[in-house]
Amino acid sequence: MERYVWARFFWQQARDKRGVPRRHVCDTARNNNRRPETGTAFTALCSTTVTPHPDDDDTVKGTCFAPACQVCTILLARAMNWNDGELGQLVQTFHWTHADIALLATALDITRSEARRLLTAWTDAAK
Ligand SMILES: [Zn+2]
Repeated sequence: MERYVWARFFWQQARDKRGVPRRHVCDTARNNNRRPETGTAFTALCSTTVTPHPDDDDTVKGTCFAPACQVCTILLARAMNWNDGELGQLVQTFHWTHADIALLATALDITRSEARRLLTAWTDAAK
């Protein structure tokens, strides 16, 4: 099971359309079973279309890794069957802006208020 998960998901630093770098998760099942490649756009787990930039390659000297995308982080934990309490603990390590909640809603194809309730339910389960 775990081997399957790790073969399917890859962390990849990539930039969105505005050029903002983040470490996102590539779900190969949603990207023609292909691993991320520099210069090739992919749809991240958070539903954002991102492209690995040549300057962000892991081998580039002095690269400072961008922060992890929190929506990708949560959705990867969920895909790995973390329980609600564990997800709640993870959720609380991030600050959730309206934009983050909107992105979570888009990724899960639910409304923003449903996404907000989901975050609250996970957080409550962690208590
Ligand atoms: Zn992401």
